[in-house]
Amino acid sequence: MINNKKISKFAISIVKDLHKNNFQAYLVGGCVRDLLCGINPKDFDIATDATPEQIRKIFRASRIIGKRFKLVHVFNRSELIEVATFRSGNNGFNDGNLVTDQSGKIIRDNVWGTLEEDTYRRDFTINALYYCPITGKIEDYNKGLKHIHNKEIVSIGDPDLRFEEDPVRSLRAIRFCTKLNFKINNNIKEAIYKKGHLLSSVSNARLFDEFCKIFLNGMAEKNFNKLVSFGLNKYLVSTNLNGCEFSNQLIIEALRNTDKRIKNNQSITPGFLIAALLWPQLIKKSLKGNEINLKKFFRSMDSILRNQQKITAIPRKFHTYIKDIWVLQLKLHSRIGRQPYKTLKHPRFRAAYDFLLIREKAAAKTKDLGFWWTEFQKNNEDLKKKLIIDLKKNNLEESTKIFGFSKELR
Ligand code: ATP
Ligand code: MG
Repeated sequence: MINNKKISKFAISIVKDLHKNNFQAYLVGGCVRDLLCGINPKDFDIATDATPEQIRKIFRASRIIGKRFKLVHVFNRSELIEVATFRSGNNGFNDGNLVTDQSGKIIRDNVWGTLEEDTYRRDFTINALYYCPITGKIEDYNKGLKHIHNKEIVSIGDPDLRFEEDPVRSLRAIRFCTKLNFKINNNIKEAIYKKGHLLSSVSNARLFDEFCKIFLNGMAEKNFNKLVSFGLNKYLVSTNLNGCEFSNQLIIEALRNTDKRIKNNQSITPGFLIAALLWPQLIKKSLKGNEINLKKFFRSMDSILRNQQKITAIPRKFHTYIKDIWVLQLKLHSRIGRQPYKTLKHPRFRAAYDFLLIREKAAAKTKDLGFWWTEFQKNNEDLKKKLIIDLKKNNLEESTKIFGFSKELR
């Protein structure tokens, strides 16, 4: 059923080495699921009955990582494979082996177990399939194969409890639903509605990881719409506009653009997307009448980033990136004298220009500002001059004041 040619040779060699040392070893999780769905896996995980220390001894190029969840990274020059020890713990109830906090969230689960026990701690049945590339056999204790066939996401154990243990599972259900085009079964849907609010207790570092997985996987627009339909978007993106902002076309355009770039193998960064997701808030906070108030604009940038930072950690390197893109939006509007040349030289010009095009596509009435910059970039010195002079003739140089940013909030 599974074609071993689609599996990393390095992963198979690790399985063989573990077997040689008398341990069990299987490919597990997302890679087995994806292979069965005809998708090329992005990475390969291995599960074994060897403990992290035993795994570490077998593979010279390996290191033990994690505290809450100890596992081993085995690597060669080009690949890194996660090898995890079978764990016991969850079969829909907390049997006392796990350490949980008051809300039921798991804090530590380094309790080794058997293969069967390991299957029950996984989130969904489709993620709990174990494949042995040597015998070609699949171990399936939770009807995962049937659910893959039915294109259905089914929880292992009671989803209410499983989402209490780890609220991120609700985001994972949404991600797999759009990625695989599977339906989420009803009791999971109900659990998302009931337990989604627990996402507010998840660390901002983990939510940033999840933010990237959900929005930078080529399915951003679909995922965002699903998040909104479950009311979970506010756990990934700060909202300060009393709910109206999610009809905002800019956000949708930015998500679409991210998906398109991934499809075309173009580079993407979470910074760009965060800049777009928060832009409507920035505009709203800085508007005075129909115009941008610069003082308010600069003051709001930090407070808006801080609010988002509380939800999803934003690595420091993206802070200046995001602010550069925002400030450059104003600079792109001002085309007097040497300013356009300076703007063009800015290291973030390209990102800011892309951002402007998205704003225009969404709603901004900027009177061909994007087109002007498209021309300005590609033309030679004489034509550049002419473009600036033509603006002067038409009294269009300082358009920040002329064109209402407020239109972008509709
Ligand atoms: P993808 O890599 O495409 O995002 P995946 O299923 O491989 O999907 P990983 O985060 O790589 O997801 O996790 C590997 C496996 O570990 C999963 O298939 C699942 O069996 C288990 N797992 C991961 N996260 C959780 C979780 N929060 N709760 C329970 N099991 C999990
Ligand atoms: Mg994976």
